[in-house]
Amino acid sequence: MKKMKKRARLCIALALVLLVGLGYYVYELARDGGDWAAYPGNGDVYTNGYLGKGAIYDRNETLLMENTDTGVPYYNESYDIRTATLHAVGDAVGNISTGANRVFADKLVGYSFLTGTHSVTGNGRHLILTIDADTCAAANGALAGRNGTVGVYNYKTGEVLCMVSSPNYDPTDPPDLSGEDMDGAYYNKFISSTFVPGSIFKVITATAAIETLDGLDSYEYTCPEVISFGDAETDRITCPYGHGTQSFEDALANSCNCAFADITLKVGPSVLEEYTKKSGITGQYSLNGIKTAAGTFDFPSTDLALAWAGIGQYHDMVNPCAMMVYMGAIANGGVAVNPTLIKDVTFANGWDADFTFKPGKERLLEESTAEKLDSMLHNDVVATYGEDNFPGLDLCAKSGTAEVGDGNTPHSWFYGYIRNEDYPYAFVVLVENGGSGAAVAGDVANEVLQEMISKAPMD
Ligand SMILES: [Zn+2]
Repeated sequence: MKKMKKRARLCIALALVLLVGLGYYVYELARDGGDWAAYPGNGDVYTNGYLGKGAIYDRNETLLMENTDTGVPYYNESYDIRTATLHAVGDAVGNISTGANRVFADKLVGYSFLTGTHSVTGNGRHLILTIDADTCAAANGALAGRNGTVGVYNYKTGEVLCMVSSPNYDPTDPPDLSGEDMDGAYYNKFISSTFVPGSIFKVITATAAIETLDGLDSYEYTCPEVISFGDAETDRITCPYGHGTQSFEDALANSCNCAFADITLKVGPSVLEEYTKKSGITGQYSLNGIKTAAGTFDFPSTDLALAWAGIGQYHDMVNPCAMMVYMGAIANGGVAVNPTLIKDVTFANGWDADFTFKPGKERLLEESTAEKLDSMLHNDVVATYGEDNFPGLDLCAKSGTAEVGDGNTPHSWFYGYIRNEDYPYAFVVLVENGGSGAAVAGDVANEVLQEMISKAPMD
């Protein structure tokens, strides 16, 4: 009897192990099945080295790229669209690892959890991206050959409408890079890179201050132009000139380094670290599975280094997409909608072929904080950048001129959003070594947004 009980227990234990293993396999199949099927070594999907993949379109169903059975893809006829959407679409050989043709190969092949790679029509599928090809071309034109990135997304739906990374090239005539990356030509900087933020980080520092410091409404600070923490020239926080006596709101509009050093030291290293984490910029967003690069920071307890960290220098590194989403959260009353790149997947005959899930949302800051920042960011435009430079846009923004050392020209940043029910867009512009943030990146932002609001709202 005792022996039988023991055997029964053993059988149950074995059955359990089997069940758990099977469960794990099904979970992995559901999660990664598409990747397994689309793996280049999979001979069932690849015939003569060619993967039976479909075509990629923009949100208006403008053809961006079509895979053909010769293995040489057909691209959009416009050079401007081909170059501007290169990083979103990807190249024929997969050098751009985050391009849709490579990352979403499972969707294009027509892999499904239920039917595998069996295709009813014998054709690959149509992948419709959220981007607008004309806006991408306008953004690439505004960058005018300078290195950097432009991103715009709908902060209510999460759809990325514009995503351009420079340098780029014509995928029908790829340059010979011989394994050497041409200043990051294979990288989608919007998604995969991090950069020194400079003053655009002050918005995060301001968030921490608003939520944790008392008496900010009556904050008054007289900018001394220079604060010395030691005898050496490098031991100083400086402003280009004395900003005079300022409120908290003035300090952001003037981007006063001395005032933000004062505010940063009042907030302290652990709180600033906590709020940086809460802002989402040290995490990774997943754009239908494409992960953004995580921002990295150091918040030391020494005053000088901490002050610089609060000003967006020191060891601060941020990802452009994550910064754009933070602006989207402010526009959205504190709630960030996760960015997405896939609008739809259809069979060649137009029938729906995929479930589209609503993107996740996350509260990054309190609603009252978002309201306060909204008014401060609008004041930046009125008081400093000039509303006339952004005609017809009810703009909220912050610029950044990020010192990158070694005597190089600073990076130029501009990010923000427009307050418009029909055009709920948040954006980020980075021009590497561009110089002044508001003047250079601000101009690019204006050009792109003007193009966008001149057209009917994107549905
Ligand atoms: Zn100042």
